[in-house]
Amino acid sequence: MTLTLHDTGSGQKRPFVPLNPERVTMYVCGPTVYNYAHIGNARPPVVFDVLARLLRRDYTLVYARNITDVDDKINQASIDTGRSIGDITNEYTEAYLADMGALGVRPPDIAPRATQHIAEMIEMIEQLLASGHAYAAEGHVLFSVERFDDYGALSKRDVREMIAGARVEVAPYKQHPADFVLWKPSNDELPGWDSPWGRGRPGWHLECSAMIKKHLGTTVDIHGGGQDLVFPHHENERAQSTCAHGGQTFANYWLHNGFLNMGNTKMSKSLGNVRLVRELLQEADGEAIRLALLSAHYRQPLDWTGETLPEATRKLDRLYGAMQDVPVDPQAGIDSDARDAFIATLHNDLNTPQALAELFQIARRLNASADAADRARLVNTMRECGALIGFLERDPQDWFAAQRAQGGDADEIDAMVARRVAAKKAKDFATADRIRDELTARGIEVRDAADGSTWKRIEAGAS
Ligand code: AMP
Ligand code: ZN
Repeated sequence: MTLTLHDTGSGQKRPFVPLNPERVTMYVCGPTVYNYAHIGNARPPVVFDVLARLLRRDYTLVYARNITDVDDKINQASIDTGRSIGDITNEYTEAYLADMGALGVRPPDIAPRATQHIAEMIEMIEQLLASGHAYAAEGHVLFSVERFDDYGALSKRDVREMIAGARVEVAPYKQHPADFVLWKPSNDELPGWDSPWGRGRPGWHLECSAMIKKHLGTTVDIHGGGQDLVFPHHENERAQSTCAHGGQTFANYWLHNGFLNMGNTKMSKSLGNVRLVRELLQEADGEAIRLALLSAHYRQPLDWTGETLPEATRKLDRLYGAMQDVPVDPQAGIDSDARDAFIATLHNDLNTPQALAELFQIARRLNASADAADRARLVNTMRECGALIGFLERDPQDWFAAQRAQGGDADEIDAMVARRVAAKKAKDFATADRIRDELTARGIEVRDAADGSTWKRIEAGAS
């Protein structure tokens, strides 16, 4: 069984051949820590967590996911709130790690922070200046895109088109409008470090290039992130690193996840259509949120609706329901054909919807079987397969207990909310109020709007 991955660079699915099977390297661009992660931000860490789990089956993996803790958006947040930059980045780094943990994302092997790699960034800029790929101007250092013939190859863009379409920032100190910043000056109010070009701070793209070089080497096997990072971020990382390393390949496989959308629009802070992971964790179990994120293929868009989480919860009810009451018996072994079929779906460019379908297939066989040994074997198979994508790692009893503690299963709550809407329509307010009280007692908050009622789970202990 060979793992094939879709590589943005070649635009094709390619068999995965690592440079060194004893040390496979993967880098995923992490969050800029100035606010809480929304559910779109959680898609890359969850997707690449699945890939990391899969790679660890066959190889020794070194997986790095950075924390961007120097960025103009963070500076702006500090100005807006009056809080120190360190306060902001510490708070949101912790929140991010807690949120991802709740979604079953295992910590990467290395989580480098940009502010701890300024010396490496300065060193890389010096290399790029020495090799003639960069130039200093007015306290800035810029990368010259005209001096890298392959610029635009990853994102399939033509530099000339970029200027015509004005997709790049024009500035007087640039030799070419598409040139991008490696270093920029900081005034006294902004964070800055001493450098040969004066006090300043690095450009965002350079941060990843320098951290990759330090922790993973000049060439990584896999570089990943969301689709929006292909240009300019990854194009620029690639340009800097390739030129600083004498033309060596920077990443052998580029993987990009599609967007999580709300009604056909990308979920994004700037559009104000975000649902925070924290909020969603009050409405549903982290495992259900994870399942929702993996229910579409990672390269496809994923539409997030009011039905997404109740549906994911029902799916886990069914999987855990099948496993319930089957005594644990490690001696029973596993159904290796079913396990291999499951892994084959993941080896096909991480086809998680198909993998979930295989898991349901095993659950159906389990439900239909009356043979104790067969049932024990199928449960073991479900556990082994589930663990590969980060599911079914709890005791089924714990899953159902957690669901009860969260106020019952989603179907039942949907039905209660529907009965309440019907009672209100019939002007039977006593019944409507009684149902609302019952829901409140279960920790469910109902919100009425012109177009219907919605509900959410209230965090335990919240008043
Ligand atoms: P940011 O903090 O905005 O740099 O985003 C962190 C990560 O989340 C990046 O890998 C983005 O590509 C990814 N991302 C942001 N919004 C979405 C979305 N709506 N769907 C999928 N990925 C996203
Ligand atoms: Zn990056």
